Amino acid sequence: MTTATAVAPFTKEDFAKRMERAARQAEDAGLTGVLITPGPDLVYQTEYQPTAITERLTMLVIQPGRDPAMIVPILERPDAVAATGVAAVRLSDWTDGTDPYEAAAPLLDPNGTYAISDSAWAMHVLGLQQQLPGTSYVSMTQRLPMFRAIKGEDELERLTAAGAAADAALEDIVHVRFAGRKETEVAADLAGLLRKYGHSQVDFTVVGSGPNGANPHHEAGDRTIEQGDMVVLDFGGLKDGYGSDTTRTVHVGEPTEEEARVFEIVRQAQQAGFEAVRPGIACQEVDRAARKVIGDAGYGECFIHRVGHGIGVTTHEPPYMVEGEEHPIEPGMCFSIEPGIYLPDRFGVRIEDIVVATEDGGRRLNNTSHEMRIVA
Ligand code: ZN
Ligand code: ZN
Ligand code: ZN
Repeated sequence: MTTATAVAPFTKEDFAKRMERAARQAEDAGLTGVLITPGPDLVYQTEYQPTAITERLTMLVIQPGRDPAMIVPILERPDAVAATGVAAVRLSDWTDGTDPYEAAAPLLDPNGTYAISDSAWAMHVLGLQQQLPGTSYVSMTQRLPMFRAIKGEDELERLTAAGAAADAALEDIVHVRFAGRKETEVAADLAGLLRKYGHSQVDFTVVGSGPNGANPHHEAGDRTIEQGDMVVLDFGGLKDGYGSDTTRTVHVGEPTEEEARVFEIVRQAQQAGFEAVRPGIACQEVDRAARKVIGDAGYGECFIHRVGHGIGVTTHEPPYMVEGEEHPIEPGMCFSIEPGIYLPDRFGVRIEDIVVATEDGGRRLNNTSHEMRIVA
């Protein structure tokens, strides 16, 4: 494994295609258009990420039948035009001391219904509403939950590389010393390895040893890892703008019979979730398949979270593999499958892979062994 990253940068045409797709999605949903404000939606559409997200209005407007248009504060215009995707839009600006909503109004249909990024500041939504009383706004996640869910080949290439980099970090971390070191020290090792293998951003490094492993949201603390501990390692971040997220549970020394049995149930649950993946089935079926294995083994009460989440320009996004999510899986969707069993005050086990849906079923982007690794 090398640290070299050889992905071709996205082009203006790539972003123009995404904007066309967004316009189609808006049309299919019966919306006038979508309004994209700074955050993951804007990164996805343009690669533009203002260094400081301020109270100043920055907004991309995508509407079927009209060219995409974007408005930025004039002082941020030089930064905006440096982003590849911004070259694909008609750019206008506004100046401090003037009304940004008045400046944005000509870009909108005065009677339109728009989906707006969840990251939009309420003051902007209210400002637009006041300026254009005939318009209405709905949440992007509510109306277009699959807005970024189906990944293109160019995105899958990055997600695959991010997964491989996380795998390389796992293969290294199992050789470091666990017993006698604090969780935070192993977490720091993990963060360093993710960076070594090309991550520009580390989002989380969970090291849940012994009883801490029974808390799925435990990150890493002062606890000293001991001989006999199960240790949940869940880590990820961004590489070339796309996310990684994988979990393996290791054991310090030889496990007890019970630990090995619980581990095996989680391993089988993860496999069952993976095998359930195919186009056309509801997302909730992936959750059900994994949950059934754990429930049948008598640990249903100990699996206390949904089985998975999407991943892309963020490490947590739609589609969610959760009871009640009836949206069908489509080729190109990329998401985690991460069942776990949590025994309060004792230990936890979780195994997580990122999986991409293809025409033929799932393809794993994490490929390290699912066998329990024994660490020292
Ligand atoms: Zn143990
Ligand atoms: Zn994770
Ligand atoms: Zn995850």
